[in-house]
Parts: sequence; structure tokens; C-alpha cells
Amino acid sequence: MSETTVKTGHPKGLWVLFGTEMWERFNFYGMRAILTLFMVNSLMMKEEEASIIYGGFLGLCYLTPMLGGFISDRFFGNRNCIMLGGAMMAIGQLMLFFSASVFSTNLGLANTLMWTALGIIVFGNGFFKPNISSMVGSLYPKQEKSKLDTAFTIFYMGINIGAFLGQFICPLIGDVKDPGGIRDIHAFKWGFLAASIAMIIGTAIFFFLKNKYVVTPEGKAIGGVPSGNDAGDYEEGESQKAEFSMKSIITALAVFAVVFFIFNYFTEGENVVKIYIYPFIYASGVSLATLILLDSTLTKVETQRIWVIYIMSFFIIFFWAAFEQAGSSLTFIADNQTDRNMFGWNMPPSMVQIFNGLFVVIFAFPFSVLWDKLRAKNREPLSTVKQSIGLLLIAVSYFIIANNVKDLGNSGLLAIKWLILLYLIQTFAELCLSPIGLSLVGKLAPKRFASLAYGVFFISSAAGYALSGTLGSILPATGDKFKKANELGIDLQGVLDKSITPTAEQVKLLADNQISDHYPSFAGFEITNLYEFFMVFVVLCGIASVILFLLTPVIKKMMHGVR
Ligand code: GLN
Repeated sequence: MSETTVKTGHPKGLWVLFGTEMWERFNFYGMRAILTLFMVNSLMMKEEEASIIYGGFLGLCYLTPMLGGFISDRFFGNRNCIMLGGAMMAIGQLMLFFSASVFSTNLGLANTLMWTALGIIVFGNGFFKPNISSMVGSLYPKQEKSKLDTAFTIFYMGINIGAFLGQFICPLIGDVKDPGGIRDIHAFKWGFLAASIAMIIGTAIFFFLKNKYVVTPEGKAIGGVPSGNDAGDYEEGESQKAEFSMKSIITALAVFAVVFFIFNYFTEGENVVKIYIYPFIYASGVSLATLILLDSTLTKVETQRIWVIYIMSFFIIFFWAAFEQAGSSLTFIADNQTDRNMFGWNMPPSMVQIFNGLFVVIFAFPFSVLWDKLRAKNREPLSTVKQSIGLLLIAVSYFIIANNVKDLGNSGLLAIKWLILLYLIQTFAELCLSPIGLSLVGKLAPKRFASLAYGVFFISSAAGYALSGTLGSILPATGDKFKKANELGIDLQGVLDKSITPTAEQVKLLADNQISDHYPSFAGFEITNLYEFFMVFVVLCGIASVILFLLTPVIKKMMHGVR
């Protein structure tokens, strides 16, 4: 056994990356837990607006890895990008801390700080995320690539231990209510500060331990500045580099423009994030996908395998769109229409998200063992079948919750156990889909397109997050809004049903209290209650699951032996 490996047979460097990623995810998910509540309660935004910004922010966090991966491959190398990204995220969180410190005296400044902070975090994440993941792969020499699946499972545990800790600490100190249920809107800052400190710890771990442990068995540094001679991993005769002709690039740009304008044109409303950033994300995905296909060196088999990646990426959009309600609509529901009493303790609303991380930590290994066992018996489902199961599970989770909110009316409270069950089922769904996606792209993409194919795959998460913003924004009024309107002397139900026409003064009162005076709508349908809201996800994910499943025979053929 060499100096750099531990008893588990995994390189010590894996634990350094594990620790770094754990603290980074603490920072990311801890902030994500309280971000929308901060926007609504301190920055006085409507929930709808907060959901849209949240979707755009997350979407961009998964779009920038393309850029981060590119800059790392060509110029800076993984190590520098990780430290740069970590430092940027720590600074971003610190700016959120300042934003949450000044909002009551200077709302304008708080808003500027918030937008700048999110912008910095978006790019920080772009530098950090792709580089830490690809370093996991680089730790293993070619003959040990079989250990990669376990390595990624361990890494995924690190991600979720971090998420769990962040979603515990940040809500605990940042999302504070008094016994009467009145929120301390000045507490959010402590959550952001904790996130910033976590990111500093993660970056420091990497900075101090990388030279000793993040090295090859021969002791050579991994992830240094690119030197351009890592041809070792290629098959003989395989093209090593993707070269795009001018014509392909121009076509891809034209596709970008067309897709951007179509989405831009059909998006209603005037929210900048919704009308510019969402179309930008969708257009980036489609144009990058086109660019790869235009390469003339692609063989028929390669092209078909790439198409499988695209089909998978497309269906995954619906998965993340439904899954990412965690930080927006589900948190608003946890805040406003849930009985969060657990054994006499009132859990902070934003902490309810913690169950996802917790369940991943508990179930990640059992799931990977399950797949191993099925594989040994030759009965492991095809990857896309696993994904269709994942989508089906999401539909089931929302179906259960839809039926539990059905009879709540405007004042009843949802029992927290139903949200816990939802997160349990959604975690099972995630484990069918998320960890295997990454390794599948690696197996399907020709090496010369690997980073770009990962790019498309990450952009599908980005597109999913953008869609999650759109869907989160159709959350209808929860009980608190009816109560508040009642205190203002307005019959909100009557206003929404149009049986009462509010006076101009009442319209203004509602707006000032961040309450909408009409039902939200999606694809031409009005969403009038929480039941209908949840059923949107049941229908979308249910249909996606069935179509993907029906495509199995075709997909299997197109994969040419890869599973
Ligand atoms: N929860 C995982 C992470 O944070 C996966 C997210 C994703 O791939 N969209 O890394």
C-alpha cells in the first residue's frame, strides 16, 4: 500500500476532497435554506418573486460550471479554481451577512448587496463545483477506475453530510421565531455568517492538505496548472481533441439566438430573471448540445450515445424542477401552513429541508449495495429505467402531499410528518437518479467530448432549477395570507374568486403586504389551491416518467452496450 492510500483502499486525497466539499455544501445548502425567507421577510419581496430569483440563482450556479471547467482545463488548473471559487463564495456569503445587517436602515443598499452577493456566489460555484468533482476521478489511475462508483458514493455522502449540517446550523441561528411565532427578521445574518465561515474552513482544508494528499500514487500533484500532455487516458487511434469548425460555431450561436428569443417571447410578466436569465439558461443548453452534434468526426455509435445523454438530460429537467421546491414553495408552506411541532419542539421552517440530507446520509450506501446485488444477479435496471423510477417516486411524493392538503382549507395546518415523508420518498428518487447520472455521462460520452457532455448534463440541472423557479412562483396563497387579509378587513377568498371587487385602497394594502390579488396560473390553468399546486408536479413528473420508461427499448439500443 502506498503512502497516499488508507486502509479502505481509497486514496487519502479522497478524504481531503470529501472534507472540502462537505464544508462547501454546508455553505451552499445552509444559505439556500434561509435565502428565500430572508428575501420575503427582510427584503419585503413577494414569495413569487423570491421563488423566481431563487430558481435563476440556482440555475446560474449550474450554468457557470461550464465556464469554470473550461478555464480550469485551459489556464488555471483544478486546484487554483477550487481555491478561487471557495474564496469567492465565502466573500459572497459575507456580503449576504452585510445585506441582512443593514436592510432595516437601508433597504436599497441591502438589495444591492444581495444581488452582488448572489452574482459572486454564482461564479464562485462555477469555479468550485466542476473542479472538485473531476478531481475525484483524477485520484484514481486507469487500472483503478472500477473504484470510481464507490468513490462517488463516498463523495456524495460528503455532499450531504455538509448539506445536513448547513441546514441544521444556519436555520438554528438564522431562522428564529419567538414562542408566539413572531419571527426575528434580524437573525438571518447569523445564518449567512455561519455559511461564510464554513466556506473559509473548506477552502483552508484544501489549501493546507492538498500538497500532501491530493497527489498520484507516485506523489505527483493532481490538478495543477494544465500542461497539455495528459494523453495517457486515450485509446489508440481515438481523436483526442474536439475541434469545431466556424460553421458549427455559427450554427450553434444561431440556435442560441432562436431558442433565447422564443422563450423570451413566450414568457409573461416583467421579472428580469424570468424573461432574460431563464431563456439564457435554456438557450445555452440547446446550443451547446447542437454544437457537439455538429462535429464531423463523430461516428454513428458515438452520436447515438450522445443522444442518450440528451434524452436523459431532458427528462432530468422535470426531476430537479420538482425536487428544488425544497428551498422555495415547500419552505413557504413549512413556514405558513404547517404544524412543525416535533416532540414539543417547534422546528424552524427552513430546517425542514434537512430531512433530504439526513436521508441521503442514511440511504446512500444501502442503495449502492442494492444496485451491486442486482448487478451480480444480472438484474440491475438500465440507468434510464432507474431515472424513470426516480421521476415516478417524485410524482408519488407530491400525490401523497396533495391529498393531505386537500381538506386543510385556508386555516388548517399540514402535519410535519407529511413533509418528512415527502423528503424521504424524494431522497429515494434522488438516489435512483443523481449519483448514477454523473458516471453514466462519463461512460457514454466520447472522451474528447467528456467535459462538454458534462456541461450539457449540468445545464440540464440548471434548466431544471429555472423551471423550479417558474413552478415555485405559482404557489397559491397559504393560510397566513388569508389571516393577514382578514386583519386588514379584506375577504381575500372573495377577491380571488372575483365575487368581491376590491377598492383601489384595498388593492394597495394587499400589495404592500406582499399578497397577490389574483390566482397564479400555469400553462393557461389557474391554480386555486395547494392541492392543484401539488398536482402540477404529479402530472409533470408522472408523464415524464412514463414516456421515459416507454423509450427504454430504443434507448437500450442507442447505448450500444453501456448500461
Ligand atoms: N445535491 C447534489 C449536490 O449538491 C446534486 C445537485 C445536482 O446535481 N443538481 O451536489
